Amino acid sequence: MAVEQSLMLIKPDGLVKSLTGDIISKMSETELKIVGAKVVQVTRELAEEHYQHLREAKFFDELIKYIMGEYHTKRVLALVYHGEDAIKSIRKIVGSTNPEKAEPTSIRGKYGRITSAGVFENVVHASENPKEAEREIKLWFRPDELVYTLYPTKIEKVTIDKVFWK
Ligand code: UDP
Ligand code: MG
Repeated sequence: MAVEQSLMLIKPDGLVKSLTGDIISKMSETELKIVGAKVVQVTRELAEEHYQHLREAKFFDELIKYIMGEYHTKRVLALVYHGEDAIKSIRKIVGSTNPEKAEPTSIRGKYGRITSAGVFENVVHASENPKEAEREIKLWFRPDELVYTLYPTKIEKVTIDKVFWK
């Protein structure tokens, strides 16, 4: 077994149905640590990049609308879990992609549905393998948003506008 990290997303249907607490409790059956967490308003750019492997799928446009929150709420809770065998243990608790085929006690089995447009509203996302986990974590989080330095970093000088409270 290897120490890994995985990106988990509680999708907009999970938030609108108030499933966040249940899902995070269920996740504590693993001994994985949360090392990053934030609520995100998903832009089209982020959605399309996240689901780049499905660009050719016939349900792609619907999937993008779903993850951007058009059908529920424009919020996703992004979490990074770290620990032994993180990817496999999370995928097991999450269940199969198709909620009708997922084990009934898995998160997707319990809470997922298939819409009349054919999209699997399966409540959560979980990285599929270490390479995807790295790509996804780097896409959703900056290094300083994680409590562990999971991947090598570099320092660059930049000038940016930053928002402060008035
Ligand atoms: N999806 C769908 N119909 C499909 C396959 C996938 O609606 O036939 C959606 C579903 O929300 C899924 C997401 O697209 O979670 C990403 O698909 P992927 O094959 O990566 O499945 P996952 O890794 O999420 O289990
Ligand atoms: Mg996937």
